Amino acid sequence: RFITFEGGEGVGKSTQVKRLLANLATQSIEAVRTREPGGTPKAEAIRSFILQGRSESWGAGAEAVLFAAARLDHVNQLIAPNLEKGTWVISDRFSDSTRAYQGLTGGVSPKLIDALEQLALDGHTPDLTIVLDMDPETAFKRVEQRAIEDGLALTGDRFEKEELDWHRRLREGFLDIARNNTDRCVVLSANQAEESLEQEIWSVVRTRFPE
Ligand code: C5P
Repeated sequence: RFITFEGGEGVGKSTQVKRLLANLATQSIEAVRTREPGGTPKAEAIRSFILQGRSESWGAGAEAVLFAAARLDHVNQLIAPNLEKGTWVISDRFSDSTRAYQGLTGGVSPKLIDALEQLALDGHTPDLTIVLDMDPETAFKRVEQRAIEDGLALTGDRFEKEELDWHRRLREGFLDIARNNTDRCVVLSANQAEESLEQEIWSVVRTRFPE
């Protein structure tokens, strides 16, 4: 089974991915946790290359192409081999992020996004995509709080650079993707306690994959 988590900035994807892994372990289901952009050494190299140098942006078109190259490696080296041997793969972001960030908010045409997706996925569409939804104002407070707790500055974070309007468009982008892919996407409100969201996700996963 291939499960992906998607959503805007600061919605708490990473925490929920870890909690799902822990729940799967209680059922002795073998699963690997991975993330995008990244997931394999080559793909992580592309991630750092793009995200660290963001001040000299490549532009959304080049980002879409480079993330697709990273994804191709991720699918070939990690996702497909694990799925083939029956290990579940849980990814923190996947191709819907490229559609939302580089496509819907970045302006790359749906035609190019579709073509890149076809190339990189090679049929490995997620079985289930959990879209974590939260209003950007609340998400911003979470990111700010996390930065304070970690003693980090918010410098370079998208909440500093991008307008709240951009975050609203990004949120609408993910909701749009979910509406167009109702067979695999489930939208859950991330505006609730971590524990209750964890239970909602667990119940979706168990209902979807009862075996
Ligand atoms: O999910 P995570 O916080 O690890 O994402 C890291 C950064 O990568 C985010 O700030 C997001 O803006 C960016 N990103 C992107 N395009 C993608 C995926 C992620 O710009 N397709």
